[in-house]
Amino acid sequence: MSKQILILGGGYGGVLAAMTARKHLTPAEASITIVNRFPTHQIITELHRLAGGTIAEGAVALPLNKLLGSKDINIVVDTVKDIKPNEKQVILESGAVHKYDALVVALGSETNYFGIPGLEENSLVLKSVADANRIRNHVEARLDAYKKSGNKADATIVVGGGGLTGVELVGEFADKLPEVCRAKGIDFNDIKLYCVEAGPAVLPIFPKVLIDRAMESLTKRGVNFITGVAITEATKTSVSLKNGETIESSTIIWTGGVKGNPVVGSCGLAEDRGRSTVTSTLQSTSHSDVFLAGDCAVVFPEGSERPYPPTAQLAWQMGEVVGFNLSVMFKGGTMDKFVPVFSGTLGSLGRKDGVGTIGGNATQLKGLPATLMKEASNIRYLSHIHGMFALAH
Ligand code: NAD
Repeated sequence: MSKQILILGGGYGGVLAAMTARKHLTPAEASITIVNRFPTHQIITELHRLAGGTIAEGAVALPLNKLLGSKDINIVVDTVKDIKPNEKQVILESGAVHKYDALVVALGSETNYFGIPGLEENSLVLKSVADANRIRNHVEARLDAYKKSGNKADATIVVGGGGLTGVELVGEFADKLPEVCRAKGIDFNDIKLYCVEAGPAVLPIFPKVLIDRAMESLTKRGVNFITGVAITEATKTSVSLKNGETIESSTIIWTGGVKGNPVVGSCGLAEDRGRSTVTSTLQSTSHSDVFLAGDCAVVFPEGSERPYPPTAQLAWQMGEVVGFNLSVMFKGGTMDKFVPVFSGTLGSLGRKDGVGTIGGNATQLKGLPATLMKEASNIRYLSHIHGMFALAH
């Protein structure tokens, strides 16, 4: 009888798990259902560009039914409310109950506000297409308000957090806002664009030479970096800093970090600080019929206490391992172990500049080569999933 595979999450981990499982299992062998809160697979590594207004929504939101529907993969657009691993059941916000023989949990991560007063209520985040649209519309509305009132808070944008998300976002703003201001009849010199980082440097993932390069490039284009100072409070129109200063701003975008998805952390699967612990074959350490992919799993390199970072490239690779291992679970054979391959890290600094490393820190890229490499990695991903789409036809 056909087995029921239920996949929670239509991001990198979930989509690649679904596609790979279908490559190895016919519809007669297993039905595959994917649950996602949006009807689209979202390319979240490019969201900063949608927020800045340099690309259209269609470039980062791929309809799941186009991607998966014709491969006998059922798509359910709903939000996961509860996972009951002991009862092999998942309950959705709509009230629907789904049973499974094998479950894949790929629900990603959530924004971590670290309990900073006022931050959750008064900041915007960049975790989805809807968030990116919200940021773009909010910035435009504040600029329109500034044009009318001259209120400086409306011409000030604060990005909290100088990791890759925060820096890529200020890079887009630095490129696009001069054009937006011109169209609105606002002097771009009136705009204050801040990136506030609690740690001693932005982009700590990169060697110093690339950090300096990134800061210099963005500072030249109008970004003010404040490093070594944490954001301690936010209101609708201000950001307080640990050094006692306050920035008057009605646009606060929080990119200060992520945490495990609470639905996953509290459902009874073995976990470590809110992220599910997994075996080398990406099965839950407490429930072997549950596989994990992406940010909601915590994977430690052998002998290390520091887990791998929650990145799209690892979610993609985990999804493929999980997809294959599902077929082994039902048809026999030897499951693959998850052995991550780090192709590198690329950060954009707007449309024409970027920094990156390939193969650890061995090869460093800056400027156009980094930009082109980043674009190529996006194209590579898109052609990979479309290629897999074609495979099943
Ligand atoms: P992050 O955790 O990497 O960075 C958040 C930054 O916010 C940190 O540098 C932290 O020191 C800072 N911060 C925390 N609290 C603060 C406070 N109170 N005030 C000011 N700053 C504060 O988060 P991210 O940038 O969203 O990245 C999440 C993951 O996704 C990472 O693994 C990252 O590498 C990955 N990512 C990769 C890319 C890419 O490859 N281009 C793009 C975006 C994200």
